[in-house]
Amino acid sequence: MFDTLSDRLTSALQTLSRKGRLSDADIDATAREIRIALLEADVALSVVKDFIARIKERAKGAEVHGALNPAQQVIKIVNEELVTILGGETRRLTFAKNPPTVIMLAGLQGAGKTTLAGKLALWLKKQGHAPLLVACDLQRPNAVTQLQVVGERAGVTTFAPEPGNGVGDPVDVARRAIDEAKRAQHDIVLVDTAGRLGVDEELMKQAADIRDAVSPDETLFVVDAMIGQDAVTTAEAFRDGVGFTGVVLTKLDGDARGGAALSVRQVTGQPILFASNGEKLEDFDLFHPDRMASRILGMGDVLSLIEQAEQHFDQEKAEQTAAKLGSGQLTLEDFLEQMLAVRKMGPIGNLLGMLPGAGQMKDQLAQVDDKHLDKLQAIIRGMTPAERDDPKMINASRRLRIAKGSGVAVRDVNELVNRFFEARKMMAQMAGRFGF
Ligand code: GDP
Repeated sequence: MFDTLSDRLTSALQTLSRKGRLSDADIDATAREIRIALLEADVALSVVKDFIARIKERAKGAEVHGALNPAQQVIKIVNEELVTILGGETRRLTFAKNPPTVIMLAGLQGAGKTTLAGKLALWLKKQGHAPLLVACDLQRPNAVTQLQVVGERAGVTTFAPEPGNGVGDPVDVARRAIDEAKRAQHDIVLVDTAGRLGVDEELMKQAADIRDAVSPDETLFVVDAMIGQDAVTTAEAFRDGVGFTGVVLTKLDGDARGGAALSVRQVTGQPILFASNGEKLEDFDLFHPDRMASRILGMGDVLSLIEQAEQHFDQEKAEQTAAKLGSGQLTLEDFLEQMLAVRKMGPIGNLLGMLPGAGQMKDQLAQVDDKHLDKLQAIIRGMTPAERDDPKMINASRRLRIAKGSGVAVRDVNELVNRFFEARKMMAQMAGRFGF
């Protein structure tokens, strides 16, 4: 999901980052590229229009300030606006003051409701809740059994009509489930309702009847993110027919263009609460607009890193270092200074975790500790100023002397020097990519 959109947005913004100052024409050209990227990703036209208008207005009015160059400011604006259309803050479930909290799931057949019921049940259980799953999809053959199966896998109880009583009345089942939840002390009731292949009146009426019978605290509209523009029309139909308090996007692991994710919040006015990204019960999490935006921009959480840097770094010094970074002329002296500045910003593992691509390096990051940094610092301090300036001169005999002087093994000095050269090369490449 979002791969093509990410690529296009990144390339639109990269063009900017090679420029020092931005003219209105530069901003217009970038806005045009962003617009095409969004439309191709199937984002609803009304959403695209508003988005582009805000980007242009903010980018043109942006004051040059702080540690960000104009191109970086545009990236920051695009990121912030993406977060806004995705819903801003992460919205969490609302729980009833008097349990049980009733959560009703609605959506088309195949949207992933039953799977979601299991995922949500497991997720809630892990947080110490005792959910009860309720099978109110009495239309689709096997829907009840399917819910019972996911319930078992999640290790939660499923309430279903007894077999042999005909089709049964979903409204009656929902009502009795609430009584059962109170009796058996379930603090959450998750009601799975029937879906159809398309939106129809009977489906809406049944969902509305169940809603009236159980007065849900949350009605979650479950929508398959792969269905593109249709997601928006379906969402509107459910909003008008049943009403809902939040959206769950499913199948975000698919390779669709992702426009649904970007449109549904703005079009329906309701927040996205959860994202489902796979068939396994664990493939599910809260939906975080900010993380999704970073993912779309393919930037890890570089922006938080920039913001923290703005607060902690000496601007002039940072600019000099950035210039050296870009040209591959960073010295060990700069490296030491940056390391000291970075340490003021917090545990190093957290900072590195914000870098692009760091997601796959989590385990290694966990090992980067501050003690290791103390060692690096000691080694650099054991070097002469000339060696820090031009690490290439650090030959074998110098390495031996530095190791002795700073109380470490020669291996440690070798590792630091080699890593430094690697990092310098990588940073120069990254600087080229993002214009830092
Ligand atoms: P319902 O008709 O709304 O209850 O939909 P189901 O829960 O039966 O899901 C329909 C199909 O989509 C099933 O084959 C699920 O395994 C699959 N599915 C549900 N959620 C996801 C998801 O997040 N990713 C993927 N890849 N498949 C999913």
